Amino acid sequence: MTQETRGQRFEHLSEGDRSHCVVLADGFLERRATLEEIDAVTRQLGRYPRGMVAVGARCAVCGSPLAVVTRPLIDGAVPFPTTCYLTSPEAVKAVSHLESTGVMARLSERLAETNDEAALTRAAYLRAHEMYLCFRSRLAERLGDSQEHIADVSAGGMPTRVKCLHALVAQSLVFGPGVNPVGDWVLRNCADEFSQATCRCSVSLTAAPQRNEPSAPKPAAAAEAVSREARHE
Ligand SMILES: [Zn+2]
Repeated sequence: MTQETRGQRFEHLSEGDRSHCVVLADGFLERRATLEEIDAVTRQLGRYPRGMVAVGARCAVCGSPLAVVTRPLIDGAVPFPTTCYLTSPEAVKAVSHLESTGVMARLSERLAETNDEAALTRAAYLRAHEMYLCFRSRLAERLGDSQEHIADVSAGGMPTRVKCLHALVAQSLVFGPGVNPVGDWVLRNCADEFSQATCRCSVSLTAAPQRNEPSAPKPAAAAEAVSREARHE
């Protein structure tokens, strides 16, 4: 099946959409994760982020990672379809609160309705699905990763269901607004708890802000700065 569909997998994407995905993927490959960024994501997740290519989206205020881009094949062996992965604990929590209201079933039903608005959302959601695959294909091509087990699998239930809001929000953050209609909707609806523009980050990218000290701060100063940040001062 994969072979038959390979040539037409992105049939709902314009040339502009395809080149956007390629440019986006190439950009992340040029800004590969630093040790400091991997360390920050490790603290966010409580585990090492295997296969992390780059930080996919950041807090607009402090620069902490919100989502990461992960390669299609981890350690050369494990197929990983969730290319855009939400890592910010505050974002994960806010989206979980929305999920706990059972909104996924309602969104899936609305997506299947026969009115014009649902048809438009369906088309946009299908486009988001194909952009996800197109983006990952470029990563796979550049990194030499096989996609044989995940070729037509995107994330979050796309293209016809709404299953995991975290995955859909991660795509909205990595691609920016106007790509994933469901992820964008979720971001709007949890804005009082999480927003890219408002820093509520508990994990900072650096051990301490170095505003007044050009050289590395002393450990005590670093600890104080971290606790200041944790208290949102
Ligand atoms: Zn922040």
